[in-house]
Amino acid sequence: MPTLLETALSRLDELGQISDSPSHLVRTFLSPASHQAAAKIVAWMTVLGMETSQAPDGTVRGVLPGENPSASPLLLGSHYDTVIDAGKYDGALGIITALAALEALQQKGVRLPYPVHVLAFSDEEGTRFQTTYLGSHSLTAPLDAQTLAVTDASGTTIAQAIARDSPAPHAPPIRYAPGEARGYLELHIEQGRVLEEARQPACVVTSIAGQSRLTATLTGRADHAGTTPMALRRDALTGAAACILAAESLARSGPPLVITVGKIQIHPGASNSIPQSATFTIDLRHPIDATRLASLEALHASFTHIAAERGLELLWQPVQDHNATPCDPALTSNLVVSLAAITESTLTLPSGAGHDGVMMTKICPIAMLFVRCRDGLSHHPDEFASSADIETSIDILVHFLQSLPA
Ligand SMILES: [Zn+2]
Repeated sequence: MPTLLETALSRLDELGQISDSPSHLVRTFLSPASHQAAAKIVAWMTVLGMETSQAPDGTVRGVLPGENPSASPLLLGSHYDTVIDAGKYDGALGIITALAALEALQQKGVRLPYPVHVLAFSDEEGTRFQTTYLGSHSLTAPLDAQTLAVTDASGTTIAQAIARDSPAPHAPPIRYAPGEARGYLELHIEQGRVLEEARQPACVVTSIAGQSRLTATLTGRADHAGTTPMALRRDALTGAAACILAAESLARSGPPLVITVGKIQIHPGASNSIPQSATFTIDLRHPIDATRLASLEALHASFTHIAAERGLELLWQPVQDHNATPCDPALTSNLVVSLAAITESTLTLPSGAGHDGVMMTKICPIAMLFVRCRDGLSHHPDEFASSADIETSIDILVHFLQSLPA
């Protein structure tokens, strides 16, 4: 008989092979591969004796009753959708290790005093509709008309996708009222290099960083590249370059602040024309909202100064603002105790990446465990977490589940 770890590893391989593309791993919201993945997860839950259901949006739930039927449930889980050309650990690891931990308890003959619900969310990455957290969002509240009307690349709306592509279009939704669950715990690969640097297999997440996204446009004058002396130029691109370097130095001076310019567009974009305009994106994240907002203001002031100095106009357009999501102090300190019991470390870290906990915090306290991944690589086929680290993380979950009160 395979060990728990062997089962977990082979399940990771199995899910990793279920793809909408023959050449790389991709599973998007309500796609054929997603249906296959969901069916597999349902089968694994059934083996554990869980009562399973699937929501119209594809999210899967397995319910394991506890000793005390009136105790509020603990929610465990992660997402089973992927990005395009994904690795097999992002999302899947949180679902598979949750099932492994429950199986470990069953093998030890331990019945928890409270029920455990394992959730496998249908969409976190937003690959198909560019709307992140669709699965966990549906769990906390019905999707609003504006969200349901969002279209994918083929023009299909979310509402149409659910009506047409869902394996359970008429099933009752899976939903929790605020306070109904005792908490939500998600295990996820770190997707960064801090654990590797610290030589630790796992750590506890303190909060999910807040995030501001905006677009900045600098406008100058398109002149001839040969006839306009340097002193007379109003070059939007060199202005953008100065702004981008200012953003980098602001972020470098205030860790854990991170600022990224991931996209830039210039007009007219010819080798013999001085750029008239440059539009670029800013992604700014910090775990403390007040610091994030202050950094945003400092950045705006610095861009305004650079634009004025160079005779450029600045258009500053906020796109998105998400507050930081703190993890629950009580649940988190329980998890740190479990981490210390298994690894002798009490390392904690804010998460720079978004996770389903952002949505789940609307209905219950949340906690998160990060597992080391090689070279911090994620959203890539070479994503890798070692079997030793996966085993350690399952042990931490088992310890945590047994440490919670009835
Ligand atoms: Zn993920």
